[in-house]
Amino acid sequence: MKNFIVISGSSGSGKTTLIELLSRDLNISISVSSTTRAKREYEVDGVHYNFITKNEFDDLITKNEFLEYENVHGDWYGTPKKGLQDYIDSNLQLFLELDVRGAISLMKFYPKNTTSIFLSPPNIEELRSRLIKRSTETSEQIETRLGRFQVEDNLKKEFDYNLINDNFETTFEVIKKIVLNCKLGE
Ligand code: 5GP
Repeated sequence: MKNFIVISGSSGSGKTTLIELLSRDLNISISVSSTTRAKREYEVDGVHYNFITKNEFDDLITKNEFLEYENVHGDWYGTPKKGLQDYIDSNLQLFLELDVRGAISLMKFYPKNTTSIFLSPPNIEELRSRLIKRSTETSEQIETRLGRFQVEDNLKKEFDYNLINDNFETTFEVIKKIVLNCKLGE
């Protein structure tokens, strides 16, 4: 069974909202990463992320607590190692929202238990307008995030599924089907 459903894609590809709704619909938990990024107003510490300082982050690296960690757009993000094996042992599934490199690390670590989905926005202009509309980043931060678009796009071939999120309901249903098939062992 594929226990870990890892979803990657450019920021603004719509992955966070999709995962939140799928998690509720399918009753599957979402892995909580640690990050040094500043908390956004709507985010809840311990729910969306564990918001920690760089010193605390370095301490967790030293203690070997991360399965993987990456610097994304200037901030650090790490997936806690603890508890992952429990999902395999208990035949449960878990969503993870990671950057492309983090997702590839997870695939290498748990090749038999991971299904990977790369979500693309319909095009870069759509991505730009989604990020501007979201208004959680400055225009400089938006340009940094768009700059990564090409890097991430080049790695999408490593993923089991490449989806274009041009219609929310369709993408939701497609991912739901993938997750249910994973449960059946496909
Ligand atoms: P955001 O700041 O928009 O929440 O996340 C920025 C990027 O970091 C997204 O691509 C997200 O998927 C990724 N990310 C979040 N948590 C982790 C993690 O634990 N490891 C890695 N490698 N990437 C992460």
